[in-house]
Amino acid sequence: MMYHSLNHKARTSSFKNAVIKGLAPDRGLYFPDRITPLPDRFFREIDKMSNAEIAYEAIRQFIEPEIDPDSLYRIVEETLSFNFPVKTFNDNLSVLELFHGPTMAFKDVGARFMARCLGYFNKNNPETITVLVATSGDTGGAVAHGFLGVKGVNVVILYPDGKVSDIQERQLTTLGQNITALKVDGVFDDCQDMVKQAFLDLKLTDTMQLTSANSINVARWLPQMFYFLFAYKKLYRQYDEIVFSVPSGNFGNICAAMMAQQMGLPVRPFIASNNENRVVTDFLQSNIYEPKPSIQTISNAMDVGNPSNFVRIQNIYHNDIDILRRNLVSYSYTDDQTRTAMKELYESFDYIADPHGAVGYLGAMDYLKDHPETHCVFLETAHPTKFLDVVESTIEKTVELPDQIKSIMGKPKSAIAIKSYSELKDFLLSKTD
Ligand SMILES: *Cc1c(COP(=O)(O)O)cnc(C)c1O
Repeated sequence: MMYHSLNHKARTSSFKNAVIKGLAPDRGLYFPDRITPLPDRFFREIDKMSNAEIAYEAIRQFIEPEIDPDSLYRIVEETLSFNFPVKTFNDNLSVLELFHGPTMAFKDVGARFMARCLGYFNKNNPETITVLVATSGDTGGAVAHGFLGVKGVNVVILYPDGKVSDIQERQLTTLGQNITALKVDGVFDDCQDMVKQAFLDLKLTDTMQLTSANSINVARWLPQMFYFLFAYKKLYRQYDEIVFSVPSGNFGNICAAMMAQQMGLPVRPFIASNNENRVVTDFLQSNIYEPKPSIQTISNAMDVGNPSNFVRIQNIYHNDIDILRRNLVSYSYTDDQTRTAMKELYESFDYIADPHGAVGYLGAMDYLKDHPETHCVFLETAHPTKFLDVVESTIEKTVELPDQIKSIMGKPKSAIAIKSYSELKDFLLSKTD
């Protein structure tokens, strides 16, 4: 499959080049040249397939023949070596749990898939690739874990000092090996800006092979379409109209859902549930797209003031706001509403949600008010203990730590403090000597 830049000023690219480069040379996001719908039978008989079979059939058109079918199947199988449970509360409401991977955040799937693709392409390449990534919380851990020990790849993670949870910080600062964490004196947008500046810096890009592992990278973004197929498989025999409420920050996950829809998944619209970072919610109302500095909230992985995948969503719906409004609904919630939702989930359903999942639940409940005939599935994108302080103080109960998290609690954190882009640049250049 070839990919083109959504800025339309760069040449088309192979999948391999798109994965290694991250962004197109004209700074646009890559997008596949074609989306071929899967046969109707795929959706009619999806419950006869394993998760790996579903995922392989869905993603192969975007990747073969650059990765051969046997290797791609293996990559998919290894990526998906954990569960994606759906729990149904009542006729209108289910939760899709995406936190059963090694860092207990949904980003594990994208990170593991991308790491394996890069590993495949880099098998016979003597040059080291540096993965540079900004994180508002969960990306860092998932990427660090996904790439840990991958030969020929160094990972450098920027995170806003003091603005990620203790467990999130441990997940990205305790691994060592080929992973380095840089704590930035600033907010997530400062981290993201530094990463963008590095990709534009010829002094850097001429001396080292830099790539991103944010959801702008097609290999991080596309595999997220699997979740929606897996949940559909579990629910479609029982419910006619299924709708997903997706807690959204950079809009990569929901945009991957829309790719599944383009391939024939009979779901519409998608609900983007946001915290107070409400640029898309406001856009759908006013038709004015106005990026804002990000606002810090208790659902910090969604503290994004200018969601990078929104251009892909616009492209899917032909940059037509009416088509977009038929396919995307967006709500925004305050931290107080989020906490109330966490209490409500706990009291009504004995379910402990993290703040991101709670925002998803709020979106589902608002949508159901006007569409009581639908079955809404909200995504629980992180394990509640990743946000232990907020969760325990809100539901007034102590929560048991899962093994993945217990194992990192005693380990010492190690991160380098930086204040400015020039410090980042010096650090990266020092690595090439
Ligand atoms: C990254 C993240 C999100 C937002 O996903 P996007 O693809 O950026 O919209 C939501 N919840 C959690 C826990 C996350 O880590």
